[in-house]
Amino acid sequence: MSQSPKTSVIGFHYTLKDDKGEELDSSAGAHAMLYLAGSGQILPALDRELQGMAVGDKKSITLPPKDGYGLVNQQLKMQVKLAQFPKGTDVRPGLQFRINQEVGSPMFRVVNVLGEEVFIDGNHPLAGQILHFDVEVTEKRDATEDEIAHGHAHGPGGHHH
Ligand SMILES: [Zn+2]
Repeated sequence: MSQSPKTSVIGFHYTLKDDKGEELDSSAGAHAMLYLAGSGQILPALDRELQGMAVGDKKSITLPPKDGYGLVNQQLKMQVKLAQFPKGTDVRPGLQFRINQEVGSPMFRVVNVLGEEVFIDGNHPLAGQILHFDVEVTEKRDATEDEIAHGHAHGPGGHHH
């Protein structure tokens, strides 16, 4: 850990594209994303880049899967039976659920339903993808005590309140 006496809150606008140049997400038209540096609120590799930038700086940042949402874990791609879902569940592609209530258990999503067979995937939707971020830093300030205690930034574009 660094001995930096101050923790920063950093605001930035971003556009996220996949390797084909397709836009996946963007803060355009919304508040800049506001986060607490070093808190794990955003991808650590992106956090490191942003911490090295000044307000007004723009940068294109490419993250390999290991610095993004990880590699695809084939063991998290499974086939289950429709009857294993609670009665009355509308099982269709896109449905998200947890297999158990343990903290940190992966969120699964239904990928396909073929008759009684349900194909599910517990990987992050962006697992295995090379991520291309275009970022612009809009704000840097010291974090408040509340923000440090909560582990996230407050205010427009930040967490709750
Ligand atoms: Zn809070």
